[in-house]
Amino acid sequence: GQPICECFDCYGGSDCSELSPECSADADSGDPLFLEPFWMQHATESAVVISGWHRMSYRYADYTTMSKELENYIRKIHLLVGNAATEGRYIVFGIGSTQLLNAAVYALSSENSSSSSNVLASIPFYPMYKAQTAFFNSESFEFEGDTYSWQSNNSKNNEDVIEFVTSPNNPDGELKKSVLGGKTIYDHAYYWPHFTPITGPSDHDLMIFTLSKLTGHAGTRFGWAVIKDKDVYEKVLNYISIADLGISKDTQLRVLKLLKVAVEGDGKPLFEFAYNTMRERWDRLTSVFSKSTRFSIQKRHPLHCNFFNETRLASPAYAWVKCEREEDDDCGAVLEAGKIIGRIGSTFSAKDRYTRLSLIKSKYDFELLLQRLTELVLRENGSI
Ligand code: PMP
Repeated sequence: GQPICECFDCYGGSDCSELSPECSADADSGDPLFLEPFWMQHATESAVVISGWHRMSYRYADYTTMSKELENYIRKIHLLVGNAATEGRYIVFGIGSTQLLNAAVYALSSENSSSSSNVLASIPFYPMYKAQTAFFNSESFEFEGDTYSWQSNNSKNNEDVIEFVTSPNNPDGELKKSVLGGKTIYDHAYYWPHFTPITGPSDHDLMIFTLSKLTGHAGTRFGWAVIKDKDVYEKVLNYISIADLGISKDTQLRVLKLLKVAVEGDGKPLFEFAYNTMRERWDRLTSVFSKSTRFSIQKRHPLHCNFFNETRLASPAYAWVKCEREEDDDCGAVLEAGKIIGRIGSTFSAKDRYTRLSLIKSKYDFELLLQRLTELVLRENGSI
């Protein structure tokens, strides 16, 4: 008969339980919808209403009050989680952390040097660093690729380098450290208890965070930089001011409302929901991969989490899958034949023997991914 309710895309039958054999699991993007159920449970407290005549000005009268209050909440959540030192540091808002990545490169690059600063990251790295540095095509900075190759070719000259350190790393979840020991931009998008044990407050000169992976509101486009040095702070501020005349006040108001909910109960409700969701997904994923010799995933290390006050395994946002068979050097294609869409290794300047699978999408996306992975492993073992 006809389904009573409309089924999700890939499902049919009278009770929507029949999965269409044609349907692929899309584990490509890092859209953090796994947090949507938490916000559904907190729908009223997290809602924002703005009257038409409110906050029309570029810099309306209470500019400092609201932005300052938001800054205080950012400091508060860092203190509560224990993931970053913010005392005595400057904070700058950006349109997502994306905008701040390039603002930071600009701020750290040397102005009066005759040669351009060398921007590097360690393979496998988030592709935006390379894309932005190339796109903005400045005389002050140039993307030079992998830190390890740079190190072996330029063993002494680490003076004019700007190194992106992504910790935990996208795609593999590793807690990275600087390789070159020059200027660094610490991208801490994933340094929250959902994804990794919090081992202590990060204390680097320039650290970047994003609302996208903290509360899941990627569409709000809000990030912030925590900066030690006043000159660097002023340069980042100048970049934002010239690019945008500042960050939307509507956005700031929404972020403030969300952070007020996030810090309730000392952050326990949000972080427990987020961590439990990720842990459950990793438990199930690990169980599927443990039955396979054809595919492997990254090793996860147990560390003491100061926030939860216990030793835990990391539960990274992405699975970094390796196809182990000699002939499977295009791992993306192997997975795609099994109706799984991931992001291929070369996107991260790694080998295509690797593919990244996103674990932070909706429950629906994750269930479909797990179903397709289970089938793939059953087929490997000749069970179907
Ligand atoms: N850094 C890393 C490592 C990321 O994975 C992402 C988003 N996937 C970003 C920065 C950018 O996020 P946003 O602009 O939404 O803050």
